[in-house]
Amino acid sequence: MRPIVIAANWKMNTTPADAGGLARTIASRTREPGVTRVICPPYVSLAAVRDALAGEDVAVGAQNVHHELAGAYTGEIAAPMLAGLASWVILGHSERRAYAGETDAQVGAKLDRALAAGLRPILCVGEVLADREAGRATEVVDAQLRGALEGRDPVALSAAGLVIAYEPVWAIGTGRNARGADAAAMADAIRAGLRSLGWGGSAETVPVLYGGSVTSANVDEFLTEPAVDGALVGGASLKPDEMAGIVARAGLTARARGLG
Ligand code: PEP
Repeated sequence: MRPIVIAANWKMNTTPADAGGLARTIASRTREPGVTRVICPPYVSLAAVRDALAGEDVAVGAQNVHHELAGAYTGEIAAPMLAGLASWVILGHSERRAYAGETDAQVGAKLDRALAAGLRPILCVGEVLADREAGRATEVVDAQLRGALEGRDPVALSAAGLVIAYEPVWAIGTGRNARGADAAAMADAIRAGLRSLGWGGSAETVPVLYGGSVTSANVDEFLTEPAVDGALVGGASLKPDEMAGIVARAGLTARARGLG
């Protein structure tokens, strides 16, 4: 049975002074049996969020790690540095691919670092608008998956709880979400891609989330799709009312699937 996951990506928002309070408010308003909740604040707010969430069943995640273990990489953070601060990590977010030039090979190396550090990875994939309009969305996503996962051990990745987030780039932060049916079709394509990489039956156990302008008003469209197992939420994840609505809807899906 795949878990239902709602992960909050706060991106470059909040400070250590306000992040703890926001995390606590969100946690207290999103207690839904069967829903796995994750909050990913900026690095400098990880400790504040961890402390604020003590006693709450909400995981703390980082938004990235570097693909090397240590060295002359000014301004970067290596996976082992997150020990005690985070238990999840977002990898290959499209904003990192676009603004930091992250390649599929680097994203694959980050996966290795995350696993070695005991971090549960959320691997982000997604096409730009031109690719979707040209009918190449599945091909692009498949290439990203292959670039990051080929040659890596499905057993280890599966044991680490790999989560894949399908995030069409044209839907992120634009207010233009994908359709539920398209997200479900891509989730199916992602699992087919995993099978072609030798995952066998384990492909069915990997949670696939949708991300891209998710709100409490549109999340229903995604969570009614059996192939979709939750959401990676950006802008709306900074708003407690939105998170309360999104996680409440996720609770319905969790109950319908016999979780919680
Ligand atoms: C994201 O940052 O992963 C994201 C999906 O952002 P937004 O919800 O703002 O589109």
